[in-house]
Amino acid sequence: MDVDGDERKIRQEIVQPPGCNADYLKLYYGKLFPHAEMFKWMSYGNDGKHPACDPSYFGRREFSFTLENDIYVRFQSFNSALQLENSIKEKCPFKIDIGPVYSVDPARRHAYAQAGDNVFIPVERELVFDIDITDYDDVRYCCSGADVCSECWPLMTIAIKVIDTSLRDDFGFNHLLWVYSGRRGVHCWVCDGRARRLTNEQRAAVTDYFRVYKGNDNSHKKVSLTGPALHPFLERSSKVLTPFFEEKLLHSQNLFASEERFEKVLELIPDESVAAHLRGEWQVNPRSSTSREDLNVVRWERLKTKTKAPGLRRCCEEIVFSYAYPRLDLEVSKHMNHLLKAPFCVHPKTGRVCVPIDPDRCEEFDPTTVPTLSTLLEELNREGLRDDTENGMFSNNKQYSWLFCFFSW
Ligand SMILES: [Zn+2]
Repeated sequence: MDVDGDERKIRQEIVQPPGCNADYLKLYYGKLFPHAEMFKWMSYGNDGKHPACDPSYFGRREFSFTLENDIYVRFQSFNSALQLENSIKEKCPFKIDIGPVYSVDPARRHAYAQAGDNVFIPVERELVFDIDITDYDDVRYCCSGADVCSECWPLMTIAIKVIDTSLRDDFGFNHLLWVYSGRRGVHCWVCDGRARRLTNEQRAAVTDYFRVYKGNDNSHKKVSLTGPALHPFLERSSKVLTPFFEEKLLHSQNLFASEERFEKVLELIPDESVAAHLRGEWQVNPRSSTSREDLNVVRWERLKTKTKAPGLRRCCEEIVFSYAYPRLDLEVSKHMNHLLKAPFCVHPKTGRVCVPIDPDRCEEFDPTTVPTLSTLLEELNREGLRDDTENGMFSNNKQYSWLFCFFSW
């Protein structure tokens, strides 16, 4: 029995949503994918037009393709926009990942190794961040796993706001590209030259800056805000996270609506007698009949009152941070040679395009309305494939025109 073949077939059926197949991808790469803009972006001015440019720069960048049937091809490189475009169109990858710029052409790394000088090392790479909604599964009750909805997506929105502000104000970076991952999260590409040239140690230091929990994994507490005054970054983040928690998350996730849920909050109170007191009140009086107010708000306000003692002064902030502070996949950010999915890929499971997100308007972004491969091709069909010569990816569709302002650096 051809087990491999059967397995592959099953995997293919799972992997490909209706309308996401090789034929559709071919059309997408042929008509819509922004090859020229990707080349312009990743060249960073090293395009042969300026006297000081490095003509080998783009050719030293690693691209990796996931082809149909999960065939994974790493260390590919291209010397021109045309080469990149032709290869993508020909191989029709289900996923494109972008790696670092190496010291030498990654496709010829073996030749250099044989020559004896072991010079194949990564020398530049955007500083990248990966935030995934599945890492919030213990604090969201509307969905789990890969599902997202309008109730839990705001956790991603607030993460973009907190991290984007810090990268600009605390680190002085300017060229930030936020991208929807196509399913359940967001990526950030910090493209400033200064960021691209950070060493692994420096990357680790930047990611450490964003880490709010420095204790061990055995504690319920995942956030520890210590010291006489909060670090200015945490202070500023708190001013964004607290109103979000109180005005949105509290209701949308019904954080105090059941014993199981309020227990999770009570675990974060370091004074057991205060926690026991609140537990007692809420168990005896599961639904507050005296108030028409939202139960979640009533209980949160009560908790705030009961934790006013000097020893508990950071308690409420720690609860807010535990639920709403960005949960970054720190390993992705620490290493130069970590691959990250390219913007404008089509997610193989959802068929959705990994579109950029404008951080200044991130609350308007709704992952459920992101174009899918099939909706785009329907649109293209309606346009009658007639404007080939207008070089117009979405040229007559205002909805998408803002996507490309990111490539004008
Ligand atoms: Zn949800």
